[in-house]
Amino acid sequence: MSHFLISFDTDRIKDYVFATHRLSEIRGASALLDRLNRVDMPRLAGGTKIYAHGGSGLFLVPADQSGTTIENVQKGYWQATEAATITGVKVKLPEGFNEDSDLRPHWQRLGLKMRLAKDQNPDRLTAATHPFFRPCDSCGVRYATEDYIEPDRSLSLLCRSCYLKRQEDRRIKDEIPKLTSGKLKPQSGRLWHGLIPELKKDNYPFGVLNRPEDFDTLGRQSSPEGYMGLICADGNDMGRKLEEISSLKEMRRFAEAVDQAVYGAVKQAILKHLQPSPKATSLPFDVLLLGGDDLVMATTAQTAIETGVTVVEKFSELTKENYGRALSLCVAIILVHVGFPFHSLVSLAEDALKFAKKVRKKRALQEGLVNFLVVSSPNHLGFEEFYKETLRVQSSGQILYRTLRPYTVAEMGRLIQTKRALSDAPRGRLEQMREAVFKGRHQAMLESLATWVRWRDEAQKRQIWQFVESFSGGTPSIFPWVQRDGDYYTPVLDLVELFDFIP
Ligand SMILES: [Zn+2]
Repeated sequence: MSHFLISFDTDRIKDYVFATHRLSEIRGASALLDRLNRVDMPRLAGGTKIYAHGGSGLFLVPADQSGTTIENVQKGYWQATEAATITGVKVKLPEGFNEDSDLRPHWQRLGLKMRLAKDQNPDRLTAATHPFFRPCDSCGVRYATEDYIEPDRSLSLLCRSCYLKRQEDRRIKDEIPKLTSGKLKPQSGRLWHGLIPELKKDNYPFGVLNRPEDFDTLGRQSSPEGYMGLICADGNDMGRKLEEISSLKEMRRFAEAVDQAVYGAVKQAILKHLQPSPKATSLPFDVLLLGGDDLVMATTAQTAIETGVTVVEKFSELTKENYGRALSLCVAIILVHVGFPFHSLVSLAEDALKFAKKVRKKRALQEGLVNFLVVSSPNHLGFEEFYKETLRVQSSGQILYRTLRPYTVAEMGRLIQTKRALSDAPRGRLEQMREAVFKGRHQAMLESLATWVRWRDEAQKRQIWQFVESFSGGTPSIFPWVQRDGDYYTPVLDLVELFDFIP
């Protein structure tokens, strides 16, 4: 009997999940997609599941059952969300194809078909205008059709899509206390149902804490107050690695290893850096998207940097452990005021992530990199523009880089350690160093050295010197600069920028 290989990929996931600034809608959307992907898709698609997570799915379906597979899944997505769509494509496999057969030519065809289908997808639906229709109070895009009672008892008029997101979030919110107290049996394939029992096993002190009600709740528990961290991570070279996979059996093993490693890395980062403080009013984090090689999470401001670094480090360790080969991911950490519009925030993070991946390729690294951005104004430039316009400058024939971003895990470790050693350093001195790197190469050197000489604490003085020196790669450094390929770099601004965000 012949088979079809059927592949699914959710369209514009982030547009759907991050359509509004409301935390309850973001995680409701994310939970809906996760359930559709991991639980409903395998049921609706039929056949044999190769994988179903991270917004995608791959199934081996007997030809006589494959006629309506794609339609069934698409209908399921629309019914549950009234907004999220998914693209499905299939290729016919030769007679006798099994899970050990050579997958590569079929995978290539499937990928090509997927790209074509995605290109032909119509743009987002825009509803027809009518003077008597009222737009949704939340997204403002679709028409309001549902009454929704807010937690403060006020009434909102929502579109069906936003309403379904809120409903899903409320459902999980009610489930969490039952999961932490052990009164509800966890369902497999659902994020919090898996995360809570596993964290509990490692003695994570949930107590009566639930997820943060909104971003302000995170901001109130943050230092500096009013800020939060957004962490975005994404696997490196995944497309190329998938193309090299020789059989469906191997594909299943690979997909499972990556999915499990992202999950495991997040779990370990939570245990290590995201313990609730004694006065906590909610968990100090929320996981907004997790699956496949993709992660988006929000944390308190002071925990974001170390959480991001641990995710990069552990992902590589865990893939080595459970796949036999270390894979890597890059992470971008944005430190930002909680009022910053979330959709723009996600684009800033994606931009910073793209930059890290580009540098990783250029430096021909196997490991993943950590990029970060402290957002200081509501119309902050994208990372690449900011890098070109603010962090990089021409000075007497050379290029000065007022940053060493993105960092490796080891480099970030040195930065964190240096911050801790300088914790009670005079802020005025740090500020002078920061201002100095915005001068020309010579002036920066003169002013930085003058500040350094006047630094009283000998141990701190040594620390900051060694910190700069540690990036010199053997060539003599000219404080605060280190030379790389004839250009000048300094890690001093990075250190000062992150100073308040590392406890
Ligand atoms: Zn809406």
